[in-house]
Amino acid sequence: MVAGQRNFPSWLAALAAGILISAMLVGCTRAVGSGAGKLEVVGSFYPLAWAAEQVGGPQVHVLDLTPPGVEAHDTNLSARQVGQIDNANVVLILGYLGFQPQVEQAARQASGRVVQVAGGIHLRPSVERGLSADPHVWLDPVLMEQVTLTISRALVAADPSGKDGFEESAARVTAQLSALDSSYRSGLSGCRYTSFVTTHEAFGYLADQYGLGQIGIEGLTPEAEPSAAQLRTAESAIRQGRAAPAVFYEGTAEGERIGRSVAASVGVPALPLGTLEFDPAPGDYLSVMRANLAVLENGLQCR
Ligand SMILES: [Zn+2]
Repeated sequence: MVAGQRNFPSWLAALAAGILISAMLVGCTRAVGSGAGKLEVVGSFYPLAWAAEQVGGPQVHVLDLTPPGVEAHDTNLSARQVGQIDNANVVLILGYLGFQPQVEQAARQASGRVVQVAGGIHLRPSVERGLSADPHVWLDPVLMEQVTLTISRALVAADPSGKDGFEESAARVTAQLSALDSSYRSGLSGCRYTSFVTTHEAFGYLADQYGLGQIGIEGLTPEAEPSAAQLRTAESAIRQGRAAPAVFYEGTAEGERIGRSVAASVGVPALPLGTLEFDPAPGDYLSVMRANLAVLENGLQCR
């Protein structure tokens, strides 16, 4: 009787404690991300978010930090986005290059897995203040394959249960990128011109990959106003036939303004080349890269 009287309340207490712990666990589970058990992935700008979506499929929720119309160099973060970086399972940045300073600073504080997707890539040098290397690796399909595989490995490490699906999707994406590389290689062989003038100097890796030369007007960071010397170099390269008779400009209002102005002063057409620094919806990475190839084949007068 006495023992029974003591046991009954402690049994109840244990039950109550069990319910409390269950409630706390449910609370914790709900606190992680919004995507109902999905891996929360933050991409610092479009190509990284695109690759993460392609590889992760329905198992991941991807947030792209760079809004439409903003060049990735200029990504500014709201307090909410800083919190999203801090709480994500995986944060994808290009590297600590000074390319996206606010994102790189927030990534240093993040509690999840921060992945520098250009980590294994030999980067072209930069002479620009605050930028330690040329960031534009995603405009080279071959380097984009490496980026995709790095992202796939990061997703597998963060969620080993998704390994087979992630690796299968990554193989599909790298096959698409490999086909894109083949199109570039054949499309850009046998062109009348092998050098081209661009406003934003974003195509150095692409030029290196396919044996071309790029003459930038604005430099690696697009908002740098071109100097008189840069304008003279670009104009004389076109006038003397050392560069293709066209000025290629990136798809922003500022890029178009500078591109059209230089093109008009030399009397050549201004042709658009997407830099993919923000979401090109309704297009995507592959459609913009294919469009760029067609524009280059036209401008460089390829067979
Ligand atoms: Zn850029």
